[in-house]
Amino acid sequence: MKNVSILGSTGSIGTQTLDVIRANPDDFQVVALAVNSNIDILAGQIKEFSPKLVCVYDEKRAAELKNIVGNSVEIVSGMEGLIACAVMDSADIVVGAVVGMIGVRPVIEAVSAGKDIALANKESLVTAGHIIMPLAAEKGVSILPVDSEHSAIFQSLQGQDRGGLAKIILTASGGPFRGKTLDELEGVTVSQALCHPNWSMGRKITIDSATMVNKGLELMEAKWLFDVDIDRIQILVQPQSVIHSMVEFDDGAVIAQMGTPDMRLPIQYALFYPKRMYLEGDRVDFYSLGRIDFEKPDIDTFEGLRLAFDAAKAGGSMPTVYNAANECAVAEFLAGRIGFTDIPRMIKNLMDSHKVIKNPDVDTIVGIGEEIFEKYMHTERSR
Ligand code: NDP
Ligand code: MG
Repeated sequence: MKNVSILGSTGSIGTQTLDVIRANPDDFQVVALAVNSNIDILAGQIKEFSPKLVCVYDEKRAAELKNIVGNSVEIVSGMEGLIACAVMDSADIVVGAVVGMIGVRPVIEAVSAGKDIALANKESLVTAGHIIMPLAAEKGVSILPVDSEHSAIFQSLQGQDRGGLAKIILTASGGPFRGKTLDELEGVTVSQALCHPNWSMGRKITIDSATMVNKGLELMEAKWLFDVDIDRIQILVQPQSVIHSMVEFDDGAVIAQMGTPDMRLPIQYALFYPKRMYLEGDRVDFYSLGRIDFEKPDIDTFEGLRLAFDAAKAGGSMPTVYNAANECAVAEFLAGRIGFTDIPRMIKNLMDSHKVIKNPDVDTIVGIGEEIFEKYMHTERSR
């Protein structure tokens, strides 16, 4: 039996994590849940899973939750509350499934407290991978990837000689606008951008997929998780989303993990690792699939992806600027205040005016993020 704390339990990853736990009641006990403000869904989760501690980041909503659930559970709020869920004594594994840089501090605190992490919150690795990975090694903590591509890479590396890893082939669906020209992208609406061809996800990551910034974030996520230079990571568009990623070894062998697009698989793999368990759902039917296509990503049209290579190469605080500028731009786009192609424009402008700080500590990282959010985000944080 593993005790699980879920940061972001009301989101796309959070609710699918609870689906996996619901299907395996003898293997997991939920001890803590954390959300931003969605107390209606959280109240139902409290009733079903009886956690000991919950965090509602928004203080007002935390008080309202008290009126609904009474004293059945301890309720905390704010960053302090989120961290309390991340370091809870009885938790064996923490699922990092909040969206955005708000996850940086809780993930670092959870690693410091020696908790294994099932990590979906890629923004924390993009901005603070240089802190999180060495700390995890020092504390003997496993960072188990939940992002489907990184889970695929992790699965493909099992039982292999890591010294013989030549390159990582990070696959991408290309999103809803694959094949479009820059001119065509100019007029894209929010609802068009929210329409992902293969995956159903939270709003922020769905927009990131449409701009291909998601692949840029994943490039940096892979660099930290698997300790490879970005020159050894190749991005490959594979529109059917059947190959979730691949690894190539020095002898030329390529190993891939395939499957239907279902996030419960990587979530379950991280929670049960190294055990493989049954998961109900669709299987790949190769007869009806017929073919798998491959394309080179169009980094001229999808500038957000090209900028990720620049940010990764610059290193230090530049990935934080890339990430924070994107969080702002996505929130502004979703609020209808800027256009779709303004997203990479805003990232580029902020990167151009930033002077890199080498090896930034967590306060510097969070500080850079806050400064950008205060200046450029006129709406609530993106969800
Ligand atoms: P959602 O927007 O669906 O959910 C976000 C969750 O984070 C919600 O539970 C939200 O609570 C919570 N949250 C937001 N801000 C705070 C805060 N300040 N304090 C506490 N909780 C907070 O996002 P996703 O599930 O789609 O994505 C989560 C992460 O996983 C992202 O980093 C994303 O990139 C990554 N990921 C997601 C995939 C997917 O399929 N969805 C695939 C691969 C990676 P509330 O509901 O109250 O707002
Ligand atoms: Mg992914």
